[in-house]
Amino acid sequence: MKHAKRAIRTKLLPWFATNRRAMPWRSNRTPYRVWISELMLQQTRVDQVIPYFNRFMKRFPSLKSLAAASQEDVLKQWEGLGYYSRARNLHKAAQIITDEHRGRFPKTAEEIIKLPGIGSYTTAAIGSLAFNLDLAVLDGNVIRVLSRLFAYTKDTRSTTAKKELQQLADDLLVKGEAGNFNEAMMELGATICLPKNPQCGSCPISHVCLGHESGRPTDYPIKAPKKKVPHIVVGAAVVTNRKGEVLIAQRRDEDMLGGLWEFPGGKRETGETIQQCIVRELKEELGINIETGDFLITVKHAYSHFTMEMHTYFAKIKSGRPRPIECQNFQWLDTSDLRKVPYSKADLYVIDALERQIIQQND
Ligand code: SF4
Repeated sequence: MKHAKRAIRTKLLPWFATNRRAMPWRSNRTPYRVWISELMLQQTRVDQVIPYFNRFMKRFPSLKSLAAASQEDVLKQWEGLGYYSRARNLHKAAQIITDEHRGRFPKTAEEIIKLPGIGSYTTAAIGSLAFNLDLAVLDGNVIRVLSRLFAYTKDTRSTTAKKELQQLADDLLVKGEAGNFNEAMMELGATICLPKNPQCGSCPISHVCLGHESGRPTDYPIKAPKKKVPHIVVGAAVVTNRKGEVLIAQRRDEDMLGGLWEFPGGKRETGETIQQCIVRELKEELGINIETGDFLITVKHAYSHFTMEMHTYFAKIKSGRPRPIECQNFQWLDTSDLRKVPYSKADLYVIDALERQIIQQND
């Protein structure tokens, strides 16, 4: 530990000072910008986050403007980033900060962690980067670096390992330099200590790394195999009316992907054809009887805890008027207006297919 600590202070921090990549949230570092970037960076790569971050900052340049926005507007800016509860929570948190902290981001770990959607990782990241609190972060990159550095042999997905690795990170933390320490560890994991191909020859702390010394750094981190995730089959409908408008439904706030809009439909039940599933789902969701028409597209998508294939067909209403029974709201939109509201990735692929078809028909 003593050698690793010294190597981090004397080698890793200077390495980071000269090798840190430029990122928009690293300039003009305010608590608000740190917070938004940290939430966006969870489960998402830096290069994917940069355009989202820049767009978000343009649309909501301050915490005040975020608090005053509608949830739908916030979701629209988040569209495609996934894990939409992050967007709903940050919107709620902005309103709490405005109402209860006079618009000032709280400065202590105890207050930061009370905000919706903020756990120990985000608290440590905001606390260290925005307020220089001595808190060590533990994300996927840091776990990889630490488990190699100490040739850590426990399953890093276990709760015990998380606690022990957090303790190691806390022990290594350079007091008074927590922001730099955290960013340096994450940067090392993201650019040098890569999952499959660690660049030990360029690593500033290879002389104290037990994983490197073992000659098999990629044996770490040790991870128990993930459980197989379930696969579901979904039917969805592009229901059109005489004016050529399309019917879309809004998912309930409390459901997965809550607040987002979708082409109505749902999970196929045992023994059903896709068309039968769509007919049943639209009756349950919107109280309408429909008949299905041509096939449009099958979209495959992987979520964190299941995979899905969604088969989409055109449809027309035979009887009934739509009512929001198992959805929050519904609306008819002209196809040129469909992108004005937020959707999940799967439904955005359906819009792409619909637009392609319209272009072909007009050619
Ligand atoms: S020496 Fe290699 S395995 Fe060890 S921290 Fe550096 S890059 Fe990772």
